Amino acid sequence: MKTCKNCNNHLDKDQRFCNKCGYDTLKDDLKKNNLKNIIMIVVFILVVIALVVFSLKDNIVQSYYIKKGDGENQSKAINYYIKALDAKYSDEVVQKLESKIEESENSEMELSKLKGIVKKDDLNSMYLNVYIQKAKENFNKENYKTTRKYLDLAKDYNYDIETFEYYEDLVAIENEASEREKEEKLDKAKEETKEKETVYIVENNHFAYNYDSAYGNDESYFIIPDSHIRYLSKEELLNYNKSQLGYIRNEIFARYGYIFKNDVYNNYFNSMPWYYPDSTFSGNIEDLNDIERYNIELIKSLE
Ligand SMILES: [Zn+2]
Repeated sequence: MKTCKNCNNHLDKDQRFCNKCGYDTLKDDLKKNNLKNIIMIVVFILVVIALVVFSLKDNIVQSYYIKKGDGENQSKAINYYIKALDAKYSDEVVQKLESKIEESENSEMELSKLKGIVKKDDLNSMYLNVYIQKAKENFNKENYKTTRKYLDLAKDYNYDIETFEYYEDLVAIENEASEREKEEKLDKAKEETKEKETVYIVENNHFAYNYDSAYGNDESYFIIPDSHIRYLSKEELLNYNKSQLGYIRNEIFARYGYIFKNDVYNNYFNSMPWYYPDSTFSGNIEDLNDIERYNIELIKSLE
């Protein structure tokens, strides 16, 4: 049943105008339809806005953190850029991160935060750049060992170290340093040998002196006074160390006045009162007697 909205008069189903007050019932329907349409449009607009906001959300969050990061320095900026990357990955942010990390005093520590956040290729190139930069810094500070350390690290990231700006200079400096080190080592070794030999000379002198004192012959100072006339035994020679055996063997030549090319022996035998240098004796083994030759071979076999 249809009634007039204006006067409550009962109307027929198909009746448009009220027969009492003349009200147009079609207006009603129109109003209803308009309201429906408005609601539908509003809902549609809201849905569109929601979709747009949703799809832009990552960009909005990203640019928020980029802005925050731009205003900070070093570590704080890096943390904001990491959040920006987390919202949305972009080369722009990666580049910003990279330049902040290069400025950082603790680049390697900062880089370690980026594992799993920055793509592997990007992270590798960041490491490479940081290592090259560190190598440069250290070269300029004359920390050549550290320079080399960073170049080696860069090498692990496929860096051709020969393309390093100061590579030739670095190699030259390293070679010079290793030469110097070698010389120092040699000098030190020489010094040590000299000290050792001096000790032996003192020991041997002392020994020779005591030995000959026992024989009552203070002038002889031989280690083995009769090594030219007696076959020595292996057993007695085993009481001497290698260096002492060298003196015992050369004592045989010294008896002939042999002039030693080795300063150590020269000094030692020159300090012996029985020693008279003789330049005509060349040290030829054929000039020795059988016993001396036998003793020399025996000593040599034990030295
Ligand atoms: Zn009416």
